[in-house]
Amino acid sequence: MPVSGLGPYDDQNIFAKLLRGEIPSRRVYEDEWAVAFHDIAPQAKLHVLVVPRGRYVSLADFTRDASDAEIAGFFRAVGTVARQLGLEAPGYRALVNMGGDGGQEVPHLHVHLFGGEPLSQRMVAPRG
Ligand code: AMP
Repeated sequence: MPVSGLGPYDDQNIFAKLLRGEIPSRRVYEDEWAVAFHDIAPQAKLHVLVVPRGRYVSLADFTRDASDAEIAGFFRAVGTVARQLGLEAPGYRALVNMGGDGGQEVPHLHVHLFGGEPLSQRMVAPRG
């Protein structure tokens, strides 16, 4: 059941196609629970997206419906990706946009990892 205002999971969304290998991506990591790849329009020197393999629209249905193993596996993967990219020592930002007000564009849950340079403190800004 959809909970995010984004509707039910759409198997034709861009990240579903990317997970199936139907469109190309620059993958940096994959395991049983997650796949990570470079964002096509980076907003920092390093901008990677981590997506669960499961069919989840957003953080809302993921936190409601995913198993404990999926949740643990996915968030461990987020940490592993950051570590493997060398982001732990300098630091990084992890961000999830959720639903309309959150500005979520792709209806498959994804965590943004930003880093590779010092980031602005201005994390939250109303849409202009
Ligand atoms: P959001 O606004 O949180 O849904 O973020 C969606 C992100 O997906 C944006 O940062 C886009 O640049 C990125 N994106 C869209 N299409 C692709 C793609 N084919 N490969 C990699 N990143 C993509």
